[in-house]
Amino acid sequence: MRIAVVTLFPEMFDAVSRYGVSGRACEQGVLDLRCFNPRSHTSDRHQTVDDRPYGGGPGMLMMIQPLSDAIEEARQWAESDGKSAMVVYLSPQGKVFDQSAAKHFAAPESGNLVLLAGRYEGVDERLIQAQVDAEWSIGDYVLSGGELAAMVMLDAVTRLLPGALGHQQSAEQDSFSDGLLDCPHYTRPEVFQGESVPAVLLSGNHEKIRQWRLKQSLGRTWQRRPDLLEKLSLNEEQQKLLAE
Ligand code: SAM
Repeated sequence: MRIAVVTLFPEMFDAVSRYGVSGRACEQGVLDLRCFNPRSHTSDRHQTVDDRPYGGGPGMLMMIQPLSDAIEEARQWAESDGKSAMVVYLSPQGKVFDQSAAKHFAAPESGNLVLLAGRYEGVDERLIQAQVDAEWSIGDYVLSGGELAAMVMLDAVTRLLPGALGHQQSAEQDSFSDGLLDCPHYTRPEVFQGESVPAVLLSGNHEKIRQWRLKQSLGRTWQRRPDLLEKLSLNEEQQKLLAE
């Protein structure tokens, strides 16, 4: 998958292109990530990328022309492998990003992505109308720039790409993938500060372990995120385990 990021701070993306799951995905060619900087589309000595808002008031906006040119360059690169690319503006006013959105963007039929990270007070509304396909938010709070939001989205999408994780199953067992929170996990030693690992996990009985994990997932979701359970239609086994 190709992901282009339009940003004034390309170095920030070293955090995802060099480390962890997304870093490995870049190294192995599962993800092709490239940044496009509006600053390289400026013509003045100071490489100006901000401008004053009409109507006055505090703060600046991203200058329209360099930004528009960088989006176009990013889109062309993202589409040059023959797939279409959706331009997403990271914005607190967008739809709130979640695991089902991550799954949607990771699906091969969704094509590639151009992520636009805003700065200052944001971008000119006409540019959004002309060049942006969708606005996505990572939550109801305001960040100083769209880079962290773009990285959140990028990381969540990348770990769902085939070949990104060592075990594809790990993504399937993560919280939200089946609508439930993940079960608790344990590693060595068997006893830590007087607390033992639940005996069933040492039993070697895979069916019992599966049932225990499912029951824990259901219990946690019921305790911590009952809103998630309301959205699910539980199967017979899940209903029985939840009632026990
Ligand atoms: N004036 C804008 C508003 O209130 O809607 C906020 C601008 S914010 C200071 C600067 C940039 O950070 C935005 O253009 C956007 O790209 C990014 N940003 C801020 N909060 C975000 C969020 N919750 N999700 C995604 N991007 C966000």
